[in-house]
Amino acid sequence: MTQKNDTAIRPTRAENYPEWYQQVIRASDMAELSPVRGCMVIKPWGYALWENMVRALDDMFKATGVRNAYFPLFIPISFLEKEAEHVEGFAKECAVVTHHKLEKDENNRLVPAGKLNEPLIVRPTSETIIGDAFARWIKSYRDLPMLLNQWANVVRWEMRTRIFLRTSEFLWQEGHTVHATKQEAIDRTYMMLNVYKRMAEEYLAIPVITGEKSVAEKFPGAEITTCIEAMMQDKKALQAGTSHFLGQNFARASGIRFQSAMETEEYGWTTSWGVSTRMIGGLIMTHSDDNGIVLPPRVASAHVVLLPILKKKETNDSVMAYTQAIAGRLRQQNYHGTPLRVEIDDRNIGGTRNWDWIKKGVPLRVEIGPKDMDADSVFVSRRDRERKDRFSIQKDEFIGKITEILDEIQSGLYEKALCFLKENTRDIDDPDEFNAFFSPKNPEEPEIHGGFARSHWCGRAECEKAVKERLNVTIRCIPFDRKEQSGACIQCGEESQGRVVFAKAY
Ligand code: AMP
Repeated sequence: MTQKNDTAIRPTRAENYPEWYQQVIRASDMAELSPVRGCMVIKPWGYALWENMVRALDDMFKATGVRNAYFPLFIPISFLEKEAEHVEGFAKECAVVTHHKLEKDENNRLVPAGKLNEPLIVRPTSETIIGDAFARWIKSYRDLPMLLNQWANVVRWEMRTRIFLRTSEFLWQEGHTVHATKQEAIDRTYMMLNVYKRMAEEYLAIPVITGEKSVAEKFPGAEITTCIEAMMQDKKALQAGTSHFLGQNFARASGIRFQSAMETEEYGWTTSWGVSTRMIGGLIMTHSDDNGIVLPPRVASAHVVLLPILKKKETNDSVMAYTQAIAGRLRQQNYHGTPLRVEIDDRNIGGTRNWDWIKKGVPLRVEIGPKDMDADSVFVSRRDRERKDRFSIQKDEFIGKITEILDEIQSGLYEKALCFLKENTRDIDDPDEFNAFFSPKNPEEPEIHGGFARSHWCGRAECEKAVKERLNVTIRCIPFDRKEQSGACIQCGEESQGRVVFAKAY
């Protein structure tokens, strides 16, 4: 075990989880808070991770027939007004553009001027502006299904922000589809949720539960919101992705009509679905430890860093050449369809160099000194193992086995997170036990507590609200795998047909 005073990140997770999260990100050089409130700067090490996630998602979308397009950043207010529930949901957190230029005032300070006749909203999501295009583009059933996705930034004026998890501006993709039948739209909603589940589990090594949101938690304007929910190491839930069945609500609002095969005029059935840079926060909170980030190989910004030991003038050149040759051979290796991502760090800065890469979470660190070179070997450390647990291996064997080792790290991270999720998920029927489960033992020092409680709920919004007000616990989802089972609502004691998942959440 790592000693308490021997960790790279202070405070540790147990000492102060929220602060640990900030420090882990700072130490990894992934991103930083910007001078603009609630907005972040994503630095190259973090952006490379995002690009790998984008690539994987984009391939999965396209495999289901989705194509990419791009729509304007600005949405006229009149568009947002078209769907009543939608405007209600987003009005509280919109950035609004009211002017189109700057002028100097009498104190020589720049002030907005040129008031717009109709203010524009910076998109918080694009159902309405994409709906306007769909209404123009779709004429007949032959134009359907229409399956589009947009990679973009969106703005939601969030009050309480946390880097990656909840920012005022974030990067995401938003998929929007139109179908001729209700069933086809519902099937698409679940199909895309399943893509998100695969992304979370196979790429990010984050086990998730899938289900439907309660009415109170669903997307404004949706008929059904489905979601993937993950458990962070502080046992809080993170909504990591959502897929919505929008019924005909947005089709009616935007006038998305088509002529059916029977030559009748009908409204389309639409869906929308999105994941964001929040997933990066989820990945960090799921796998990282008190020494920093731990990156799952499938999406890691780099798979391996080579660390030549350049301490002696007479051997430096040959060690460097040996390192370069290894890098060249590694880069020719294919890992799940992409060339291995290899970094070389030749800085001569002592132990700090190794620690930098531990904190960045690179899956494999490979030290290469004159002795390793003479023995035709390399010295390997795995980020998923203790720091002192290192091994020497023949260079050729390492090159031959590296993808296998990476897969082992990937599945190990997933298994560990799955165990954690299982250990901290409980069926709770007794209201006192439920209260205790979600209450810190010492309110002065809120230790990590709680988890996922699978408990009965009568289905009434009042009970959901009461639990939220009392314990700051929400219904994360009505799980798809829930069994019909009669019981007593955890809040009011009345008849319930099955369990839902309650948790504190980000
Ligand atoms: P929604 O359109 O509200 O269903 O959200 C789509 C996706 O964006 C979900 O995966 C959310 O978890 C994520 N998301 C929502 N708000 C934010 C935010 N402020 N920062 C980062 N991600 C967000």
